[in-house]
This record gives sequence, structure tokens and C-alpha cells, in this order.
Amino acid sequence: MKRKAMMAGNWKMHMTISEACKLAEDVAQQCKKYDDREVLLAPAYTALSDVAAAIREDDIIVCSQNVCWEEKGAFTGEISPVMIKDAGGSAAIIGHSERRQIFGESDQLINRRLQGALNFDLLGVLCIGETLEEREAGKTFEVLETQVREALAGVEAGQMGNVVLAYEPVWAIGTGKTASKEQAQEAHAFIRQLIANIYEKNIAEQTRILYGGSVKPTNVDELMAQPDIDGALVGGAALDADSFGRIINFEQAG
Ligand code: PEP
Repeated sequence: MKRKAMMAGNWKMHMTISEACKLAEDVAQQCKKYDDREVLLAPAYTALSDVAAAIREDDIIVCSQNVCWEEKGAFTGEISPVMIKDAGGSAAIIGHSERRQIFGESDQLINRRLQGALNFDLLGVLCIGETLEEREAGKTFEVLETQVREALAGVEAGQMGNVVLAYEPVWAIGTGKTASKEQAQEAHAFIRQLIANIYEKNIAEQTRILYGGSVKPTNVDELMAQPDIDGALVGGAALDADSFGRIINFEQAG
């Protein structure tokens, strides 16, 4: 079964509103009309609404970099699903390794965030991935299994259509070290089998699993040629329209 590819740019804490709008417009220009791939941009919260307005005519998903589970209330520093939708967004990144590592977000918190996104019909882009220490200790699959099971606790099979997973080995994020295509494929196949075990094969076959970690114009084609890699979550290389454009327009194998 062929899944629609998703090419996602995570802009992290970069760019003023005007810079973000300019980049979004430049990226939109690079997007050819494809039926087999989608593009997602995740600007900083301050730029969400202006970016959404700037690319209103384009077929691009506007995404928040995190989300709270509540609609409103005393949650200083958070953004609610309703606010994301109000700003023109329709997706949220959840559990990015920078949230886990720098801000101490736990699997339980990430589970609440994912449920919040799904309850308000946002697409949840759930990030998982092992550290270098965990990989070297031979714990990659154990770590991935815990992260996936805990994040998906209470998520119904019928909600999985709104979940995209992103395998992002922590040691490959922003480091210039990409997992080899074999390492990435092995982890993706493991995650897909896990989804089949938790839900059913059909759901696993339909769930998109993106790879993230130093994806660049020079390695995107070989990564995208792997059978279980359905797209890319891109940090550094998404900050330049030409390089992200080349990533979006990856060359299909075969
Ligand atoms: C990311 O932020 O999710 C990421 C993968 O970053 P980079 O592409 O810079 O490694």
C-alpha cells in the first residue's frame, strides 16, 4: 500500500513574523502539484496566523510546535488546540526530542498532549527516538516501544488516521549525523510492526512514519526510497527554501 508522503519543516525558535511569511511563500513556490505528497510547515507560535494567511491559497498544512490538552485556562506558556485552529493551523508536533530533553516532557505528558490534539481534530505529529547512549546500550527498540505505547495509551484505532509518527534518533538531530538508510528503515519497520501489534495490520499499513535527523537535499532520495519511510521531519534544512524545496521534490525511486 502506498502512503501519501509528508515533508515537514520544523522551524523551531527561528524567524520573526515577516521572515517566516517570506520563507513560507518561497517554500510554496517550490511545491509542485503532487497527489502523492503533502507539505507541512511548523513556524513559531507568533508567526502561525500570519504564515497561515500568507499561504492560504496553497495546499500546505500549517502546524504548531506543541499543543496543550485543554481548550483554555491557567496554563501559562501553553497553546491550546482551539488557538492553533483559530490561527489557521491544523496540526501539532508533539514530543519533539527538544521538548523531552530540554523541557523534561514525559511520555505521560506527551500522551495528554496527543489526546488533546486528537480531541480537537488536529493532526498529531508524534516524535519518538532514542539517544546515542540508549542506542549504544542496545536499547533502541525498548525505548521506541515504551515511547510509542505510552504516547498512544487511550488513543482509539479510529483516531489513528490523525496520527503521524516521526522517528527522530536524538543523536541525529541538528548534528549533521544522519541515521543510515538501513538504520532508519530498521527502526521504521519495528515501529510499524508495533502499531500492528497495538491496533491491527491495516492501521499500521496506513500510518505514516516520517524520518527526522539531519535530512538534507543530498540524503533525502535514499531515505525516501526505503519501504517504511513515508516522509521527513526537517529542522535545519527547512530554514532555506531551496534546500527544503529539493527535499519536498525528492526523487521517487524506480
Ligand atoms: C528536527 O528538528 O526535528 C530535526 C530533525 O532537525 P534537523 O533536521 O536539523 O536534524
